[in-house]
Amino acid sequence: MRNPANGREVVIEAEPEEIYLDRETGDELEVVGKVLPLAPSKSRLPWAVENLRFCGWCGQLAQKDLNDCPTCGRRMGPLGPRPGDR
Ligand SMILES: [Zn+2]
Repeated sequence: MRNPANGREVVIEAEPEEIYLDRETGDELEVVGKVLPLAPSKSRLPWAVENLRFCGWCGQLAQKDLNDCPTCGRRMGPLGPRPGDR
């Protein structure tokens, strides 16, 4: 959520259709991003940084033991350096 007045962002657990206010300023927050529950996955690895890699197609995170990206469905290449690593 973001306060459009000052750009402050907060991550909170929100209910649909509810209005959320900035705790400090009382401004109404706008939703700028959502964390969706994970779809059932073939991976048994917990969703933790050490188990995740970036899909080379869409750049989203996927568990390392998956061959196909759960986000875009395309086959991910062999494990390699992450994009941006050097
Ligand atoms: Zn992908």
